Amino acid sequence: MGKVIALTNQKGGVGKTTTTVNLAAALAAAKKRVLVVDLDPQGNAAIGCGVDKEKVTYTSFDILMKEILATEAIIKLPELGFSVIPGNSDLTAAEIRLLKEERRERRLEDGLVLIKPYYDYILVDCPPSLNMLTLNALVAADSVLIPMQCEYYALEGLTALMGTIKNIQETVNPGLHIEGILRTMFDDRSRLTKDVSEQLVQYFGDKVYRTCIPRNIRLAEAPSHGLPVLFYDKASRGSLAYITLAGEMLRKESNKKGS
Ligand code: ADP
Ligand code: MG
Repeated sequence: MGKVIALTNQKGGVGKTTTTVNLAAALAAAKKRVLVVDLDPQGNAAIGCGVDKEKVTYTSFDILMKEILATEAIIKLPELGFSVIPGNSDLTAAEIRLLKEERRERRLEDGLVLIKPYYDYILVDCPPSLNMLTLNALVAADSVLIPMQCEYYALEGLTALMGTIKNIQETVNPGLHIEGILRTMFDDRSRLTKDVSEQLVQYFGDKVYRTCIPRNIRLAEAPSHGLPVLFYDKASRGSLAYITLAGEMLRKESNKKGS
């Protein structure tokens, strides 16, 4: 049964979308069956996979509205080795439209039920806020992967997010757990980065991935070519970091199963 991982951080620009797309490509390269679900109205995950978000027939919005089966919105990307359900500006209406619907926080979960068995990993790229879309992701998810930049206010933001996750565990999704905290745009020459990073490990221990994603221009360039960095510049530091992260994730998973 596929594991649904929500990539969440209410802060924008921390590397959620970059991590979704590149981790998807790296897991696919490790022969895992992977689906990306773009739940952000900006549709950047779709773009990063080379999908023209305005030309697609269906998006994640149609799944939330129960107008289609999730299978109808899946776009296969054989050259990249994984599939994507795109998102676009239609999703901005979801917040209001869902208000009057039943099971409004369970719409994504309901939609994914049928397709979960066909994937090993379903990565949900969340918008930069704790809104109804993110709530749907956190209810549908088995775990949360939190990308964060080691900046001055990052730990405060993380504490708020942990509070939200705890609330969700206590109410709508008791099985939700933390997949891991990922340090992104990491600059090991910066004193501040090092300090915040140390505090992070002190507080969250082995929840923090050992793999850090360095700041790497190739990661920023790749989306404009509609490609994960693995296909844009395989030997780049960014590419190697995401391959290492996928390896760390898979190892953790198999250790857990073995124990
Ligand atoms: P989010 O989805 O959290 O808003 P993004 O993944 O879109 O964040 O990243 C924000 C910006 O930073 C994008 O322009 C992206 O290309 C760039 N970026 C993300 N990760 C890195 C990195 N490790 N090195 C350099 N640029 C990065
Ligand atoms: Mg994003």
